[in-house]
Amino acid sequence: KYEDIVSIIESVIETQKVNTKIHQFHLQKETDKTTVLGDRDKLAQVFTNLVSNAIKYSPEGGNITVRMYERGNRLCIDVQDEGLGIPEEALPNLFTKFYRVDNSDRRRIGGTGLGLAIVKEIVKAHEGEVSVTSELKKGSTFTVSLPLVALANAEEEERDNYEKYAHAHVIIVEDDEHLA
Ligand code: ATP
Ligand code: MG
Repeated sequence: KYEDIVSIIESVIETQKVNTKIHQFHLQKETDKTTVLGDRDKLAQVFTNLVSNAIKYSPEGGNITVRMYERGNRLCIDVQDEGLGIPEEALPNLFTKFYRVDNSDRRRIGGTGLGLAIVKEIVKAHEGEVSVTSELKKGSTFTVSLPLVALANAEEEERDNYEKYAHAHVIIVEDDEHLA
């Protein structure tokens, strides 16, 4: 199915923002192409896990910024926090099942270490990628990139098709079932 990432992220933030210390949630949309092909519930799971981590590992609060932009033919979504950060040596293990960073800062923060493994699995199934950059005590940024569908900008596509086929007697039947 075609899904708009903006509406998925808005609903994730709406659900997650209650009862947190987070100062403000920012949603920065730097592209109009935000339609991807995928499963709405699974994509919502990805951003629920990332946003809930951003909240959980920001015990002092701070801001959370979700930024959407286009790179090549991909939609990139950054989830950035101003929390504890992640030690460099932990970064390669982060997406491994049951892996948790253990240090005095976060000993009291509970979890099973599955959230990011699930993120990676779902993103992979959508032919996307997930990566992370972080600085201890400054914060972390998780980036998900997903392929933008050719029909991402439906109106543009329709106009292009119209121009292309304006002089031919063709009817274009769109069948997106096989893409779902
Ligand atoms: P679960 O998500 O299963 O409840 P979890 O949050 O510990 O448990 P993951 O979401 O997989 O597991 O994260 C793995 C580890 O990566 C965490 O234990 C935490 O140490 C670190 N981590 C993840 N996100 C962040 C973040 N935004 N800031 C700092 N550390 C993070
Ligand atoms: Mg987690």
